[in-house]
Amino acid sequence: PNHNAADFLLQSAARFPDHEALLFFGKKTTYRQLLASAHRMAGGLQTTGIGKGDRVAIMLPNCPQAVIAYYGVLLAGGVVVMTNPLYVERELEHQLRDCGARAIITLDLLYPKLARVRGDSPEQGPLPMLQQVIVTTVQDALPFPKNLLYPIKQRRAGHNPAVPYGPHGVLSLHTFLAKGPALPAEVAIDPAKDAALLQYTGGTTGLPKGVILTHRNLVANTMQMAAWCYKMKDGAERFLAALPLFHVFGLTVLMNQSVMRAGTLILLPRFEVKAVLQAIRKQKPTVFPGAPTMYIALLNHPDVNKYDLSSINICVSGSAPLPLDVQTKFEALTGGRLIEGYGLTEAAPVAHANPIWTKRKIGSVGIPLPGTQARIIDLETGDALPSGKVGELQIRGPQVMIGYWNRPEETEAVLQDGWLRTGDLAVMDQDGFFTIVDRMKDVIIAGGYNVYPREIEEVLYEHPAIREASVLGVKDSYRGETVKAFIVLRKEWNVSREQLDIWCRARLAAYKVPHLYEFRDELPMSMIGKVLRRKLQEEEAAKEK
Ligand code: ATP
Repeated sequence: PNHNAADFLLQSAARFPDHEALLFFGKKTTYRQLLASAHRMAGGLQTTGIGKGDRVAIMLPNCPQAVIAYYGVLLAGGVVVMTNPLYVERELEHQLRDCGARAIITLDLLYPKLARVRGDSPEQGPLPMLQQVIVTTVQDALPFPKNLLYPIKQRRAGHNPAVPYGPHGVLSLHTFLAKGPALPAEVAIDPAKDAALLQYTGGTTGLPKGVILTHRNLVANTMQMAAWCYKMKDGAERFLAALPLFHVFGLTVLMNQSVMRAGTLILLPRFEVKAVLQAIRKQKPTVFPGAPTMYIALLNHPDVNKYDLSSINICVSGSAPLPLDVQTKFEALTGGRLIEGYGLTEAAPVAHANPIWTKRKIGSVGIPLPGTQARIIDLETGDALPSGKVGELQIRGPQVMIGYWNRPEETEAVLQDGWLRTGDLAVMDQDGFFTIVDRMKDVIIAGGYNVYPREIEEVLYEHPAIREASVLGVKDSYRGETVKAFIVLRKEWNVSREQLDIWCRARLAAYKVPHLYEFRDELPMSMIGKVLRRKLQEEEAAKEK
């Protein structure tokens, strides 16, 4: 058994030392090199006094340094705090303060944002705990066009920060790795109790909470996925990392799975359709996990048929519902398997998935992963419901978090006897396959009826002119709430409200049919490519005021 979630790296480095672990714009890192760097990272952190239980933030896009930093922190005995590089100062400050990070590893271009949060005198600023700032540059990874990594706005501003190395614990990653010992001291880990990762939730219901995932949680979910993908071959798979590694989906299903399998992780700093198509053609990945919007975007690209995508064998879609026809179309395009799964940060993250090579059900999120129990609970009585009935999905298993960081009440509200309340409404069929109905908090109550936005979105997605759709409830003086649809049309298509109304009326009961439509050029998306209903809701609420 693994005692440290970084043991995957030790094993693969022992078995496949010269195999490519990482590939980043043509630059290769072997398993031997990756482990040596992670060891140096760990040794360096220990030299600065970081040890068991200390939180170390990593604020990086997908790049080799992010992987080195992750395993380095774990080998030092520390707790990784993955930080979204797109966070604005307020979010960054909240997270660093909340977790009490002692060190952060980031990119030179993100440094000014961090410096503004830290203040002129770090000791008197809001983050006195944060003593060590380790800064890496794009050139550290390889000489390549800088602009690939940077948000357009910064590019326009000609942003090129000079990092003040030296004072206030600011060091370059180079110096840091060169200074430290080649090997860290071994740290004893209790896998079931010791945190490996604090992963912050999106914060739909308030300020983001830190989900505590133990070494066991991370190892368990990686192994559960390995059992699921049993036909994968060690030392032979190539994983396309278009999902961000700072989200737990990418962290487990890409990084840890690839490292466990001694695979090659093909790192893309952000999802860009053309770059993904080119990476597939050139690097021939066999595994491509993603969010539904990624597969949709690829299918919609005008030149998609000009690319050979046949290297892809396995795609796992999660984080949001996969529209029905996307699966068939994407499988036809690649010749591989695209399966839908379900998960949440609190479960490290995967809880359910459709079998890859045996019977699966389109539209369902599949069955619980090995070792995972799932039940549907009646919202009113709290009793377990039989198949066919909608209730709250609860899960229990080795991947379920031990709680939220410093939030005992919130932990108690969602975790009892090891059962996690997911906040999702679901139904199980007679074969034990689960279907997500919607999130409990997104259910629209229109004129006394429960309306599930997802059902309406499915109907809209079937319309040939519609590229993206998101449905939510808006205040209505007569019905309490009424159904509103936000629509993005495909290029060169046009459709009127009246036509959409006819489309929906033919397929939905009258109370579900949207009363309001709003056409947009795009919808707000999360980093992982999930439509942010919450953002749309906030905009609607602001209008009501
Ligand atoms: P927050 O926790 O702050 O609300 P978030 O919901 O985006 O943010 P995640 O843990 O990333 O946090 O997402 C988990 C949620 O994503 C699940 O609870 C579920 O609602 C949704 N989800 C995941 N997979 C699927 C799927 N296959 N179909 C439908 N919904 C899904």
